[in-house]
Amino acid sequence: MDEHASDASGSQRSHAGWAIDTLLVHHARDASTADASGATVPPTYTSATFDQERATAFGRFDYSRSNNPTREALERTLAALDGGVRALAYSAGVAALDALADVLLPGDEVVCSQDVYGGTCRLFSEAWAARGVVVKYVDATDTGAVRAACTSKTRLIHAEALGNPLLTVCDVAALAGVARSVRALLSIDNTTLTPINLRPLSLGADVVIHSATKYLNGHSDVTAGTLTVTDRSLAQRLAFHQNARGSALAPRDCAELHRGIATLSVRLERQQRTAAALAKALHERFGPTITVLYPGLEAHPRREVHRRQSRGDGAVVSLCTGDADVSARIAESLELFSIRVSFGSVTSSISMPCFMSHRSIPSDLRRHAPPPDLLRLSVGLEDAEDLLADLTSAIERAGIKGGRS
Ligand SMILES: *Cc1c(COP(=O)(O)O)cnc(C)c1O
Repeated sequence: MDEHASDASGSQRSHAGWAIDTLLVHHARDASTADASGATVPPTYTSATFDQERATAFGRFDYSRSNNPTREALERTLAALDGGVRALAYSAGVAALDALADVLLPGDEVVCSQDVYGGTCRLFSEAWAARGVVVKYVDATDTGAVRAACTSKTRLIHAEALGNPLLTVCDVAALAGVARSVRALLSIDNTTLTPINLRPLSLGADVVIHSATKYLNGHSDVTAGTLTVTDRSLAQRLAFHQNARGSALAPRDCAELHRGIATLSVRLERQQRTAAALAKALHERFGPTITVLYPGLEAHPRREVHRRQSRGDGAVVSLCTGDADVSARIAESLELFSIRVSFGSVTSSISMPCFMSHRSIPSDLRRHAPPPDLLRLSVGLEDAEDLLADLTSAIERAGIKGGRS
């Protein structure tokens, strides 16, 4: 971890002066949810409506679609974690992404990284394109290619800082420079790294997005998405549309997500320590028959850029075996990694994105889909030795011999 971006200055400390670990557990307890009983855990305000004192003017809260104390407490914590002026919580990661469409007009162009979540590709190329938005996919690890794809109509550049599932790395500060030069917004989907590792707003991004379904909640029991922004007028516009569309996260889910966030850094630090150990062990034992993709490995082509901007390497490891049938046999014979879409939970899982999470990529864009033999591991909180033994025996049972040991 020592070689990674330092945690001094704006990248790790909040505007309130607290480090992230302090914010994670203390931030929920602010005045907006303080209650007369002195409850340690703020009550969850499930009420859809709030009684008003006057008939001609609204009080602070009136109707939960527009604002709710439990959601407001969550959104404040998120804004502090990401270092933005305002955060908004939505019913899913894709709903958070879709909220960005409210800054686009027909004819506007979006330049999007080609290593993005399948549902992002589906949303942009089907829902947004139907509203007249033009979407271009580029290799976002190549800042020059992003620059070249921009025109005077480009309004948004979108990328994942650590791409899902190929674990490609884009240079967030360089992309922010491109966005500024063409007067577009830069949105960074930070789902795989979380604010514990990377804070894109401090590197010049305008919007940071999380599928909170993954690490932020961390327990596979809430579907949620968030946006955090640095500009107050953009925040107001997004809040206006969140109310107009009714896309906000429900209060019970906000409370549950807020509780999940309290343990984010302890979960992720352990998960990424185990992920690093597994990536190294699998690479040493099964390389080059199996290609291990993980930004912490010496062999990762963008390790330098990644280390400069991120404090940690995340807990997603991808493996390419060269044969989709072999990959399927590995996935199906594992005991501790259950086969499921998604990642970021306390229990380990495995998926074949080409057939699962990225199946929704429209057929004309299939060339950007992950390769069919790619296995994506999400490393949970189980014992590292147990996980390695499970993986090693599943890989060997699928007929791959450890070349070196
Ligand atoms: C899962 C995911 C999304 C979509 O989030 P949902 O909560 O499933 O709607 C967006 N971006 C990335 C990187 C994801 O992994």
